[in-house]
Amino acid sequence: FSFADFGLAPDILRALTEQGYTHPTPIQEQAIPVVLQGRDVMGAAQTGTGKTAGFSLPIIQLLLAHASGSMSPARHPVRALILTPTRELAVQVAENVKAYAKHTPLRSTVVFGGMDMKPQTVILRGGVEIVIATPGRLLDHIEQKNISLGQVQMLVMDEADRMLDMGFLPDLQRIINLLPKQRQNLMFSATFSPEIKKLAATFLNDPLTIEV
Ligand code: AMP
Repeated sequence: FSFADFGLAPDILRALTEQGYTHPTPIQEQAIPVVLQGRDVMGAAQTGTGKTAGFSLPIIQLLLAHASGSMSPARHPVRALILTPTRELAVQVAENVKAYAKHTPLRSTVVFGGMDMKPQTVILRGGVEIVIATPGRLLDHIEQKNISLGQVQMLVMDEADRMLDMGFLPDLQRIINLLPKQRQNLMFSATFSPEIKKLAATFLNDPLTIEV
């Protein structure tokens, strides 16, 4: 199995070569084809398994494939939203997404709390296809109308168990209520508690479960 077998765009494959990735990890082997098919996914995976590329690579591929004509820089609606419990994880995921998409026209950015909103606002208002965010700060930007989620096609809830532990459920519900009903949902969690199963049953549509 190689990354090329998934049918990923040459611009993505080039970035992976530059990252030094030669072969997909087990979670990537399972997740990438399923996400490319458009299915919702419930993934049980710890950090260190390569789960970030497991969801980021097919998201980038799908956004490229569904680009409407030439992507004019003036029009970059948010099309993929990745929610994480902490700023550290948000920054890490954002660095990965940037590296994987660096040869594509797709733009991405990260927003998290504990820092000035202004620089984040400038970038959001300029337009980005992929936003990586912690829930509280994302809601701040939504309230200030710095970001619109009306065109989001893909939602990722990363480390969902930690988001629940940190009390983000009401924030998650508020955010998800603002998304189009027609969208693909991916949830990753290190554990499969009853609370996580309930969250999955609420927000995922006929998900495929992946465990590594
Ligand atoms: P993650 O579990 O997503 O936090 O990834 C853990 C680490 O593995 C990160 O440093 C990734 O850059 C790296 N990684 C992810 N996928 C691969 C791969 N297919 N080959 C080599 N390294 C990888």
